[in-house]
Order: sequence, then C-alpha cells, then structure tokens
Amino acid sequence: MARFSARGLALLLPWLTACSAPAQNKPAPPAAAPAKAAPAPAPVAKVEEPVRVAPTRPVAPVLWPTTTLRGADYVSLRDIAKRFDLKATWTKADTVLKLGDARGPQFVFEANQKDFYLDGLRVFLGTPAVLHKDSLWISLLDVIKIVAPLGRPADHAAQLPATVPKTIVIDPGHGGADPGTLNPKLGLNEKTLTLDVALRLKKILEPRGWRVLLIRDKDTELSRDKKKDLLMRDEFANLNQADLFLSIHFNSAGPAVTGVETYVLAPQFMLSAGDESGDDMTKVAYPGNRLDYANLAFGEQLHRAMIGGLKTSDRGYKHARKAVLRMLDCPGALVECAYLSNDAEARRVATPEYRQQIAEAMAEGVANYAAALAALRPAAPLEPVKVK
Ligand SMILES: [Zn+2]
Repeated sequence: MARFSARGLALLLPWLTACSAPAQNKPAPPAAAPAKAAPAPAPVAKVEEPVRVAPTRPVAPVLWPTTTLRGADYVSLRDIAKRFDLKATWTKADTVLKLGDARGPQFVFEANQKDFYLDGLRVFLGTPAVLHKDSLWISLLDVIKIVAPLGRPADHAAQLPATVPKTIVIDPGHGGADPGTLNPKLGLNEKTLTLDVALRLKKILEPRGWRVLLIRDKDTELSRDKKKDLLMRDEFANLNQADLFLSIHFNSAGPAVTGVETYVLAPQFMLSAGDESGDDMTKVAYPGNRLDYANLAFGEQLHRAMIGGLKTSDRGYKHARKAVLRMLDCPGALVECAYLSNDAEARRVATPEYRQQIAEAMAEGVANYAAALAALRPAAPLEPVKVK
C-alpha cells in the first residue's frame, strides 16, 4: 500500500479497507447449511449449488470534492453538510462552524483547531480545520477516517466485524519492573491502579457473558525489554483470538490537567496526536489498521461512556500509533483514565469507589460498542437460494 501516493491512496481507501478489513482473524463461519440433507432425490434437472449472498453491503464509492490546501486534499464542511443533510451555520463568524439539525449528529468545528465536538464529545483530527472562502475545510483523510464514519457509521457497516464480540483482552498497563507514572506524594503508582481497575472490569463483564482474559493478574511484566513487553500484549490478544482489546492506563502532565483521554490506532498517513510532522511510521499500514472503522467505533463508545460516567474533563478522543494497538487482529483502544499528576484527581483515584466507577464506565463503553455493532452489522446472510 505504501507504493500509492497519499492522494491516490486516499481515494482508494474505502475500497482497500473494504477488501482487507477482516471480520475477525478467525476461520469464516461455516456456510449456512442447506435446508436439510434431503433423502437422495430422483435425478432431475441439474440443481446448482446454493447461492450464498455475501453478508456485507457494497460500500458506496464516496468521492468527496476536494481542493488542494497546504499541499493536501481538503473537503469543505459545507459539502459534508450537504451529503449528510445537515445545516451548516457559523456560530462565530469565520471561526466556529456548526453542522447539524434537530435529529442528526451535531458537529462543531473551529478554524485552526484539531479538535471538534461530535454531540458534545471532543474528537481530534489528524490536521486542523482550515478557513478557506466561506467554509472550514478538513483533510480528506480526516473525512474518510474520522468525520464521515462517526457521522454516518451505517455507511461503514460492511467494514465492521461480522461476529458478536465475546472475548475481551484487558491490558492492565505496565507492571513488574515498570511502575508506569507515579504520584510519590500520595504513594500511588500506575501499575497497581491499572491492575485494580482491570480486575474490577473483569468482575463486571464476566457475569454479562464476556470471556475476559487479563494480560496480567499480578504485579509482573511480560518482558524486561519494554518494546518486547508491549508486543507480547498484542500477541496475547491475537493468540487468544480476542474480539476486543482494552488497554488501561493512568496519565501524567502538568499539575492542573485532569480528565480522560482515549486512543485508537492512527490510520495510515494520519499524524499521531501531538505529532506535527510525521515520520516513517506515519506511512506504515499496521495490522491494526485493517480495523480502522471498528477501532473508531469502539473508541468512540468507550470515550463517551468514560466522560459520561465519570463526569470529568474531556481530554479528547485521539489517534496515535500506540505500540499495544499496532499489531492487533481485533479492534482495540487505550484509555488514560485520570491524571495521577493532579493531586485532587489522584486522591479520587486512590479510592476504591472511584476505581469502581472507572470500571463501570468502561464496561458501559464495551457494552455500547457491542450494541452499536449489533445495530450496524449488515443483515444476516440470506437463506440459501436454489437456482433452477
Ligand atoms: Zn501508562
């Protein structure tokens, strides 16, 4: 894929992902059995094999009109509004443009900002929105990989897993020799808190029918080599044929910063959050990128549930090339539940009640993802049709 130009590839992306997005890295479900093994019929006119209709909808080719800005293809938010049947209104002249109507999704974009709001949720683009003529414009890659599938997820149903998710691998970040981030004043370390939340989440999910596997259930690392340790977490999920992967972390920044951040794998060519120029990794299509649309759907549900459940600051739903997300064969997300560097928030995290709330919010995100999948998944395959 790296041989295509960025522009050519962007145009091809809907088809490429449609072709390459595996439902799961699992054997295909057995073909629907023909009605019953009929007793040997008398030889009649030749009956052809049952026709099995592919359980996917064709992906409508979406060719967004583009203009070259800053050396890349950009799409006007007015064209997105038109396509999605939404009204585009400036709420602050030439700065804040709102797309929405009474029923549909509400988007709020701001000039020169990477973040936008979708129904109140803070989502980050790969590159900022740009003011041009009478509209804000966003990059074609951001449209294809973030804005369009979040606004109209049904258009990408064919690219979502076609099986009900059952096995979830939970990754309590860090462990053993790697304590993660610390709050020495309160005697907190990340590795202990991630494990505690993971164990709580397991307890919530198992009675709900999930098969829950933990990367670790005690204070240990998978490898002393950090790079290897992270790769082994992906491998654990892949070997266990996980349907979903959730990595739990706690954050660190300036002392005033609080809230939740959620990450999914950045699509090929999209800048990782916080990266302004890109590097060789930006050009790579990782195994996890086969599931860009499922990652996006899972991350959205998870972030929404965390923000709603914890009533904390929204630090944003972001894309990055996190090592634990790159090699996954299933949708995955990484959530930074709170900032240990903020004493007030760290004190909350130190209470079992708040950690239980975190686990409950995560469980809700997982359930909402499964429900969204069930609602979006293409209709079950048609019964075999015998053609005379
Ligand atoms: Zn961490």
